[in-house]
Amino acid sequence: MTCPILTVDLGALATNWRNLAAMNSGETAAVVKADAYGLGAARIARKLARDGVRRFFVALAEEGLALRRALGDGIEICVFSGHMEGDAPIIAEARLVPMLNSIDQMLRHVETLPGHPFGIQLDSGMNRLGMEVGEWEALREIALEQSPRVVMSHLACADEPDHPMNAQQLRAFREMTDGIAAPRSLSATGGILLGRDYHFDLARPGIGLYGGLPFVDAQPVAQLDIPVIQIRDVAPGETVGYGNSWTAEAPTRVATIAAGYADGIIRAMGPEGHVYAGETRCKILGRISMDLIGIEVTACPRAPESVELLGRHQSIDTLADWAGTIGYEILTSLGNRYARRYVGG
Ligand SMILES: *Cc1c(COP(=O)(O)O)cnc(C)c1O
Repeated sequence: MTCPILTVDLGALATNWRNLAAMNSGETAAVVKADAYGLGAARIARKLARDGVRRFFVALAEEGLALRRALGDGIEICVFSGHMEGDAPIIAEARLVPMLNSIDQMLRHVETLPGHPFGIQLDSGMNRLGMEVGEWEALREIALEQSPRVVMSHLACADEPDHPMNAQQLRAFREMTDGIAAPRSLSATGGILLGRDYHFDLARPGIGLYGGLPFVDAQPVAQLDIPVIQIRDVAPGETVGYGNSWTAEAPTRVATIAAGYADGIIRAMGPEGHVYAGETRCKILGRISMDLIGIEVTACPRAPESVELLGRHQSIDTLADWAGTIGYEILTSLGNRYARRYVGG
């Protein structure tokens, strides 16, 4: 092994989708924005489409075009950013369904692509994307006459089940949409777990498919193995890495592994970070460099050839805790310098 290997378990992905779909009372789509959270949208979406997913969501029209090329026809691809200036040729060519976010987007869409399908995104309180109540009131009748493919909104606090914002947004969404004929969608991964009131006709999970919280029962999908380049023994008083931030207190065997913050291994997780050499937990020593990390392998029964950063022993959320961030950022930070291996497809 000469470069780190990112293994994506398509079987675990499919299991996570099935388990979320079993909890959800409506249709269960899949969110594959940002290259399926860094894991490879084409491979991820092809697997899920084979297993029954009929509708995918991306952030941008360009992502939708790439996905259309990977999936072919017969699958619906929806775009959260809606219909932005200049998007019309891509939306037409790739037969995308933009989630229109404003009156401006609505006008742009019907002027440039009359009769082309669309969805509507409403703001129920997050103040990020979507039409405000007033805009929706003005447009509602005209929009509904054209049978939108979905009318959706997004929850700001769904990963905190007891947060009062959930019920508040549910109420706002219902007030804006009760009685309409179009399919409705409010929930991502977190909303599915909040229960039936939040499910409506369609849910849009992302992170839960990829093995992340708040779906606590998710199977890990990403495994990252990093090769060892060199091993040395250091004496008490010697230091390892930039800034001399770690000093040996006892004779220590140190391995240098071939990945660093340029590969999305967030430097801030250094002080708490560990890897696994087989079943031995190895501490990260000193600072994470751009392409290299020092680890302690004193307790390893034999010199490891590679170590696991992500996988069976530690999840994206374990790493996120060390780095003071969320699993989403751990996944989407993983760089391009890995050999990618897809298993379980
Ligand atoms: C990213 C996103 C999702 C998926 O969210 P997860 O928390 O990853 O399940 C769903 N809907 C919208 C609008 C999003 O931006």
